[in-house]
Amino acid sequence: MYFQLNEEQLMFRQAVRGFSEKELKPLAREIDEAASFPTGLLPKMAAIGLLGMAVPEEYEGSAVDSVSMAIAIEEIGRVCGSTGLSIAAHTGLGCFPINRWGTQPQKARWLPLLARGDALGALCLTEPGAGSDLRSIQTRAVQSGDEWVVTGNKAWITNPSLAAVMVVFVRMEDEFGMVLVETDRPGVTVHPHERKMGVRGSPTHQVSFDQVHVPLDHTLGKPGHGLRQTLETLDGGRISIGALSVGIAQGAMEEAVRYARERVAFGKPIAEFEAIQWMIADAGTEIEAARLMVYRAAWLKEQGLRFTREAAMAKLFATEMGERVTRNAVQILGSYGYSQEYPVERMYRDARLMTIGEGTSEVQRLVIARQVMAMV
Ligand SMILES: Cc1cc2nc3c(=O)[nH]c(=O)nc-3n(C[C@H](O)[C@H](O)[C@H](O)COP(=O)(O)OP(=O)(O)OC[C@H]3O[C@@H](n4cnc5c(N)ncnc54)[C@H](O)[C@@H]3O)c2cc1C
Repeated sequence: MYFQLNEEQLMFRQAVRGFSEKELKPLAREIDEAASFPTGLLPKMAAIGLLGMAVPEEYEGSAVDSVSMAIAIEEIGRVCGSTGLSIAAHTGLGCFPINRWGTQPQKARWLPLLARGDALGALCLTEPGAGSDLRSIQTRAVQSGDEWVVTGNKAWITNPSLAAVMVVFVRMEDEFGMVLVETDRPGVTVHPHERKMGVRGSPTHQVSFDQVHVPLDHTLGKPGHGLRQTLETLDGGRISIGALSVGIAQGAMEEAVRYARERVAFGKPIAEFEAIQWMIADAGTEIEAARLMVYRAAWLKEQGLRFTREAAMAKLFATEMGERVTRNAVQILGSYGYSQEYPVERMYRDARLMTIGEGTSEVQRLVIARQVMAMV
């Protein structure tokens, strides 16, 4: 595939970069230190189409293509990993499944609200006892007349404290399904946010469902198709996490280059030492490789072609690259890199999540090995 961004994609990048530099970057340190999502910026994000990327125009969305979506997540991640993660989850895990499998009334009720940023989207898959092994979830939806009664505990969920509705992955007798559950339904408890190593401004919570009654018309997609729907959602989500890693790495490399030009040791800027240049050269090369892998997976998705293998490869490579590049950025800044006064310390912590969320590196390798071996 020969790759070139089109005019629209370049303009969208410019708009998101402008917003990120002007509005988000000055707040990034405080977002991390206060572990607080910048809700005050949601109207501005909505205004440039950041919150309705996976929402059609008829539901007030910006309906951008998958490559533009990756570009936007990358640009936000370049200045603030926390905001990038919450917007990635909102878009790929919250809006996407509602738009993909929702009925017309479900879409009309929830998508405009999500695109306007009145609330963020959330997807509840993981449980205290089930992460990679999604088939072992225990949360149940039991039919009672014309309602589901949902009971169980979900863990490590992004955005529920900012959500109005959550997509919840459940057992339905012997099958899996998805149901839409409003956060204000009696029996829903969003527990206090987790205290995390990184992406601290992205709220992560445990959510309990204690005999929560929801009408049957809250079923999302087909009962029995829950696992298939989840895997398709995660395929797309992996592109976003890959894009976020590219952005974080890019931000860290830029900080490292700026610092290396100014810091003097042994009578010259450290940027003139080959050891530093090699780290920068490796970072630049790996970031570019990861970016191309992410865009390619996004492009395949946009064409309606299969992209499971490419999304898993892009996520694996980009997230492990993100760790290496942010690690070396800390190294280039020396003691200052280890200080909270400089952003690379935060970027290193933020990047660390990416090899875990939306399928660990080990799970990506399982997916990739299966796909690669099937081709031989
Ligand atoms: C900040 C944050 C945000 C998150 N947001 C969400 C969200 O919005 N929604 C949601 O549903 N979840 C979310 N998660 C959960 C996340 O997706 C899971 O933590 C992740 O999938 C791993 O599951 P686990 O933590 O249960 O680890 P486990 O599955 O218990 O894995 C533990 C270790 O064993 C390895 N392992 C497991 N199975 C295998 C195997 N077959 N072969 C080799 N190695 C294996 C794993 O790779 C890992 O190293 C979030 C997590 C975090 C930290």
